[in-house]
Amino acid sequence: MLEVTLLIQNGQEAFEVRLEESLTIGRSDAATVMVNDDGLSRVHAGIYRKAELVWIVDQNSTHGSFVNNAEVPTEGTVLKDGDQIEIGNHTTVHVEMRERKMRAPARRATASRPARAVAQAKPSSFNFKSPVFIAAVSAALIIVLAIVAIVATRDVEEEKPQRQTRAPKPLIEPRIPDPLIDDWDVEEAPLPEEDQPTDETYRQALQKVKEERGEPTGYDAAVEIPAELKHYSDRRRNLAIQSAETIEQNIRIPHDFAELAQMIRAKQFVELKSVGESYVLYAVGGGATAGEFTHFDKEKGKSVPLYSAAAGMQAALNQMAETDERKAIITSFYSTGRGRSLAAAELESLTTLGRDLNKQTLDTNDAAARKVFKRRLLSFMRPEAQKVMEDLALAYKSRFNRPLPLASLVRTEEYQRELSERNVNAARNSLPPHTTGLAFDISYRYMNAAEQNFLMAEIARLEAAGRVEALRENNNCFHVFAFPDGRPPPESLIQKSM
Ligand SMILES: [Zn+2]
Repeated sequence: MLEVTLLIQNGQEAFEVRLEESLTIGRSDAATVMVNDDGLSRVHAGIYRKAELVWIVDQNSTHGSFVNNAEVPTEGTVLKDGDQIEIGNHTTVHVEMRERKMRAPARRATASRPARAVAQAKPSSFNFKSPVFIAAVSAALIIVLAIVAIVATRDVEEEKPQRQTRAPKPLIEPRIPDPLIDDWDVEEAPLPEEDQPTDETYRQALQKVKEERGEPTGYDAAVEIPAELKHYSDRRRNLAIQSAETIEQNIRIPHDFAELAQMIRAKQFVELKSVGESYVLYAVGGGATAGEFTHFDKEKGKSVPLYSAAAGMQAALNQMAETDERKAIITSFYSTGRGRSLAAAELESLTTLGRDLNKQTLDTNDAAARKVFKRRLLSFMRPEAQKVMEDLALAYKSRFNRPLPLASLVRTEEYQRELSERNVNAARNSLPPHTTGLAFDISYRYMNAAEQNFLMAEIARLEAAGRVEALRENNNCFHVFAFPDGRPPPESLIQKSM
């Protein structure tokens, strides 16, 4: 069994904790391991074992959790030996993993380590769901609450008046595919006429896509669906494979447009023009709105508009027809220095990328410009997926002399949520695949049986070769997810994602 040791350090203390089944870290007694750092939430992050893997999951903390400088996504992050976790204002957790040897004494600190005070952590081996544990914590809570009530006036950060009592939070496990959801994907709306590119090339390409075939098309065409494009007998498996690959490749998921802009600037994605040699962006970014650029606040699950200064925020708030709850979320976000500087940095990422892409300054106050820019950001994908898409597009174009109509590329977590709210069939979560930038949708809405059969045979060949995971969806799309290393994730990881 893997022995996992966490070296927790902040300005004042350093101590080691051995991970048994699971533990939580936070600033309050409600956490298994209490650390004195005002930047921590009361129960900030959970670390636990699941099969042979060790996960960290942010417990909806105010400021998030980071592993090697990457923010821990909603679904959690798998930890490796040597990882550095950063939480709060100045707390770091160094992760050490060793295969536990039979009979041999467990390896502990090495001489190269900085000196530390070894504190006794509270027992971390327990079952969160056991009645004994809940009873014990409830009793402890009564005492703690009495103390909290006395010192409540000193505890001003983040706590709203109604949040007086607090049961110990159970760990949030990574999201797993919901077997009840058949179609977890969402079809993007075709671009409205007024939003389509006006150039002749685009118009002609779209005309080719929609041309009357004189026979049944789309869902009505009589096609032979290869096994590779159908669901597995266990319907969860298709999504589990994509989730497993995301975990294995440690794919970062952009939460909002600002984060996507940062990742684009870091050259993690490539842009697709609205018309290429053999494809056309038929519905990509069709759901983009002219709304303000926002920061996706994970804790609240809400979006907060980006303002460059608190003064701008206040002026905007005064004019805003928002509910009191929305206003409270926005005010609370901008009440911290961290929130204000985050907002400024995110706006900066957007405008800098706008300058790079458009060769002119992006005016984030211009609604029409925002919509165009958002759609442009959604026209990116990972280069590994682009390669697969272009091979398919070329084959289709050579055979049928039509461009391949693409319906969706990368999506942010926030955009995915917005789409899901509009479509009741969509998975109500932020899971891969499209947030990874490794997935793309091909619209078969206008294709006849021969076109669909040809494309499905091509995609099935790729899947049989272990390069993609694909599905013919009932919403007029072939969904293709490309494995960046050209092979599927290990079966053990797929099983864990089910
Ligand atoms: Zn899709």
